[in-house]
This record gives sequence, structure tokens and C-alpha cells, in this order.
Amino acid sequence: MNGKTVMACIDAAHAALEEHADEIASLDQAIGDGDHIINLLRGMDALAAMRAQIEAEAFAPALKLAATKVLSTVGGSSGPLFFSMMTGMAKTSTGDDGVVEFARAFAAGVEAVGQRGKTGTGSKTMMDVLIPVAEHFTAMADAGASKQEVLEALPRIAQDNMLATRDMLATKGRASFLGERSRGHIDPGARSSQLMIEAVCARLAQGDA
Ligand code: ADP
Ligand code: MG
Repeated sequence: MNGKTVMACIDAAHAALEEHADEIASLDQAIGDGDHIINLLRGMDALAAMRAQIEAEAFAPALKLAATKVLSTVGGSSGPLFFSMMTGMAKTSTGDDGVVEFARAFAAGVEAVGQRGKTGTGSKTMMDVLIPVAEHFTAMADAGASKQEVLEALPRIAQDNMLATRDMLATKGRASFLGERSRGHIDPGARSSQLMIEAVCARLAQGDA
């Protein structure tokens, strides 16, 4: 894993977000202020514009570089949260592409998001996707699962948990201002996180990055 891997994952996530842009916009219009996808795509465009710099770095510095750009371009609540995810992963990663190593880095990234956003599962946020994915990833890695097994399993976990945010009451972020009216809508950050996880897993399963 290196800067090219990071950029390949960013490209995959970017394409998935573009493909579902209208849907994510509608979700954030329903329970937020509608800017979530605009925020994310602004960040993705900025990352694409610094492709050569990211690709030239080793894995952890490439992630840190990308994270800094995310912080300065994405904005909203999600910008600092995705920054924390990426820097949390970068701090823990040794650049080794073993399953155990990557599971540890992912879990550290999710923990950093939890510290920044001060929430866990059940408050109808991206954490409702990120935490179960991190837990399954760690459990599978500890049980000796192969890379392909992990890359197949995690998108399903992300999908199920993203869908489960629909019936939750939002207690964090802008959606919490709606109280009971937040129920019945999937959380936009849960949907964008799930889409990015699915796209990155599919890209990594292809290899050669
Ligand atoms: P804003 O709500 O400030 O406009 P965005 O639209 O960029 O920010 O992001 C909204 C998403 O951020 C929500 O859908 C939710 O998933 C996530 N979010 C908001 N607050 C938190 C928090 N404290 N912890 C984790 N995720 C959060
Ligand atoms: Mg918003």
C-alpha cells in the first residue's frame, strides 16, 4: 500500500458519491441543510487536483496529506470528522497491507471520529456505519480471515447498518433539531460512508493499487 493505493481508493469513493449525488442531497435536505454531498464533492475534486502529490507519497503520509485537504475543503460537520478518520488511520498504519494491520488502522480512524464527534452508535450518524464495520473488520482479522473475505463481508455490514439508521431518532448533529421528525429518513452521512466503504472494498478487491 502506498500513495497510489490511497488515490485509487479516493477515485473509487469519488465515483460512487457522484453516482449517488442526487440521493445524498435529498437525504440531507430531509434531515439536514442539504449541503452534505456538495461538501464531499468539493473535497473530492480538491483531492483529484492533487493526484500527483498524493501518489508520490508512502501510504501514511499520503493519507495525512489527503486528510489536510479534506479538512480545508469539505467543511460542515463531516469535514473534520473525515479528517479525524484519515489521520487516525494514518497514525496507526505502518503501511503494511496485512488484514490485521489494516483492521487496526481502520478501528483507530473510527475511534478518532468518535472522539471528535463525541458519539457512538445509536445517534443516527455515520458512526452507525463506521463502528459496526470496524468491529466486524477487527473480529474477522483476529479470526484470520483473508483479504478477499473481508472485502466481501464489510460492504454488507455497512449496507445493513446504513439502512438501520432510517428508523433511528437523531440525537447528534443538525438532524437532532428535528426530534421525532428525523425518523423515517436514512442519515446522509451514514449513506455516504457506506457508499465509500463499498467502493473502496470493491477497488481493493481488484488489486493492482
Ligand atoms: P452539517 O450537518 O454541519 O451540515 P454535513 O452535512 O457535512 O454537516 O454532514 C452531516 C453528517 O455528519 C450527518 O449526516 C452525520 O452522519 C454526520 N454527523 C453530524 N454530527 C456528527 C457527530 N457528532 N458524530 C458523527 N457524525 C456526525
Ligand atoms: Mg449538511
